[in-house]
Amino acid sequence: MTRVFDEDLSAGFGTRAIHAGQRPEPHAGAIMTPVYLTSTYVQDGIGRNKGYEYARGKNPTREALERNVAALEGARHGFAFASGTGCLDSIMKLFRSGDHIVCGENVYGGTFRLFDRILQNFGLTFSYVDTRDANRIAEACTPNTRAVLVETPTNPLMRITDLTAAAEAAHQAGALLIVDNTFATPFFQLPFQHGADIVFHSTTKYLNGHSDMIGGIALVNDDQLAERLQFILNAAGAIPGPFDAWLALRGTKTLHLRMPRHDANGRQVAAWLAERLGHERVVYPGLESHPQHALAARQMRGFGGMITVELGTQERANAVLEKMRVFSLAESLGGVESLISHPASMTHGSVPADVKARLGITDGMVRLSCGVEDVEDLIGDLAQALA
Ligand SMILES: *Cc1c(COP(=O)(O)O)cnc(C)c1O
Repeated sequence: MTRVFDEDLSAGFGTRAIHAGQRPEPHAGAIMTPVYLTSTYVQDGIGRNKGYEYARGKNPTREALERNVAALEGARHGFAFASGTGCLDSIMKLFRSGDHIVCGENVYGGTFRLFDRILQNFGLTFSYVDTRDANRIAEACTPNTRAVLVETPTNPLMRITDLTAAAEAAHQAGALLIVDNTFATPFFQLPFQHGADIVFHSTTKYLNGHSDMIGGIALVNDDQLAERLQFILNAAGAIPGPFDAWLALRGTKTLHLRMPRHDANGRQVAAWLAERLGHERVVYPGLESHPQHALAARQMRGFGGMITVELGTQERANAVLEKMRVFSLAESLGGVESLISHPASMTHGSVPADVKARLGITDGMVRLSCGVEDVEDLIGDLAQALA
């Protein structure tokens, strides 16, 4: 009997989410990939082993996750890391002192902090540009530019970057396009189809989806890039433990069930908020009033559950945050439960005040991650908190 495994990329998204990268365990036939709690593997003789030597380099649970997410992104190779940030740090080890990176100006606060406070000290240089306009990317490229990093939609301003145009600009300059696909997930957006070279995720968010682990994953198609990333993963060692890899793998099995609900809830909550507060105060790519709605609709299969709301002042934001009962005040996003956060002091706390002001990350801004609860309860919660 032939079965659907990682080899079969023609299977539908849900079938891949459940089966790709996994085969029944060989001893008992356990259908679930075991958590391989081992640091090393017994070898048959010098240079003779089953392909596993030491668990920093390879772990079967981690490999199942890597193959699974690679199959979802339509990539040949995956590399799992201990966090999304650790993943990006390892990706950056592809480069060397003197190399230049063009980065979206509204990336995740931790991405900016990693570049600005750490990697810059090692001689990497960065330019931050508004990647909504691919010309800005092209203008920022120098002969030393090795990569362009974009996030779309961005956090928390929900700006959209045209991935095809970004890939063209990067490739024109001889640079790689790196895409942080954490917000959209492969269910809604497939950056490799637009020319991306490296896609990465904080698996902490939608991929795991249950707010019970921290992880990251990088995907590539190019075999040489894959070889270099595997080398970095093993040599620098920012690997996830097998249990976290297993939790993420359990999460991806229901990605195709969760994402439509996040999206449906996001659309309804955004529409209700826009009606209640005015369209200019609600930023959601699924609203026709979003300035890049047409691009988002073209590039994405859905808009997800992330909504940013401008409440005017920090006092008003705080008053609303304190009254929420279904939404919990917390950093992070993408879990089954709804969260609300204050980007200026939380996720983007490390972005300098003048940069925040220039970008438009205000003290009155709150960001919602709509979970998969009943939408009436989410809207009811917002209604009582805004009253
Ligand atoms: C959370 C997040 C990260 C960082 O991932 P961690 O797993 O928290 O290290 C990177 N990019 C985006 C878009 C995120 O939301």
